[in-house]
Amino acid sequence: MSEAQDLPLADKFRRLIETQGPMSLMEYMGEANARYYATRDPLGAKGDFITAPEISQVFGELIGLWLVDVWIRADKPDPVHFVELGPGRGTLAKDALRVMARYDLVPQVHFVEGSPTLREAQEKAVPGATFHDDLSDIPENAPILLVANEFLDALPVRQLVRTGEGWREVMVAVKNERFALMAGSEPRDDSVPASRRNLPKGTVLEMSPACAAVMGEIGQRLALQGGTALIIDYGYTEPRAGSSVQAVREHSKVDAMEAPGEADLTAHVDFVLMRHIAASKGARWLGTVEQGRWLRRLGVDRRAEALAQAAPDQKAKVLSGRDRLVDVDQMGELFKVMGLAAPGWPSGEGFA
Ligand code: SAH
Repeated sequence: MSEAQDLPLADKFRRLIETQGPMSLMEYMGEANARYYATRDPLGAKGDFITAPEISQVFGELIGLWLVDVWIRADKPDPVHFVELGPGRGTLAKDALRVMARYDLVPQVHFVEGSPTLREAQEKAVPGATFHDDLSDIPENAPILLVANEFLDALPVRQLVRTGEGWREVMVAVKNERFALMAGSEPRDDSVPASRRNLPKGTVLEMSPACAAVMGEIGQRLALQGGTALIIDYGYTEPRAGSSVQAVREHSKVDAMEAPGEADLTAHVDFVLMRHIAASKGARWLGTVEQGRWLRRLGVDRRAEALAQAAPDQKAKVLSGRDRLVDVDQMGELFKVMGLAAPGWPSGEGFA
């Protein structure tokens, strides 16, 4: 661990704010998450949160099958790159690649991962994967099969608030020794689309330049080199206002201002904007559907029943895992699956 990482991030932020004034919420969230992921494996029962691939192997398997189906109908291009953004422990990739290999789909594997700790886990799960800091150096010579599960929600968001004097950036200041949100002093009306500038005082608008940049790159890659992409996350499919930033620690919601770098900070994904950005770069939008509906259309029930039959002692666990992924009051409705394809590539199942 480097010296800078020994100093609690809260202390570093406090010093920074004392000397330079309040920092933007976007900077706070970006640095807090970089520190958070770099210093731990946050997944699983003993960690802070759990994700779909960690709940059930069926999740990664069905994603693998979805990719196999598209790849076969695209005439089995070879070579082909499997690209995953923020692979966590590598579980999704491991489950998907196992299924893909049964159909002779053996892609080159590329992981975009910022955390050294998680890279280690991913290397164990999928030996031989190539690691990247971002999408920029993924080879351009062949089509990509891209997956991102709960990646975009971890990227920082910018918030603007309507005050009596117009729109301002949401900043983090120190008040009574604690971090607190406040409106910045610089006018930011130019950053708000004209159609939304007259929203009532106190309205917060959220946007993620980091998500927008990633989606732009994905769209461009699909258009240039062919392939398909699945973007899975919690988010919304109608424009909305208000803050969606939340912090989770040990499976409970905590105050996002409490201990930067020690809790997972997330925001909901704006799937409408993501779709438009990808399309503006030339990718084809296949649809955005609720995770539960998508998994059911792909046969999650049959797959779970088969697994339960093959290992009767695991039946309760397999079926309760399936329920967590698809039930509307669990992950089934809040989570969305967005499909994208290169022009000329076939549409995948589950979006019709
Ligand atoms: N997809 C995994 C993990 C989700 S957690 C799963 O479903 O289990 C978010 C993942 O994104 C982690 O692997 C984290 O280290 C990575 N990540 C977060 N911000 C990142 C960034 N800016 N650049 C690269 N990876 C990032």
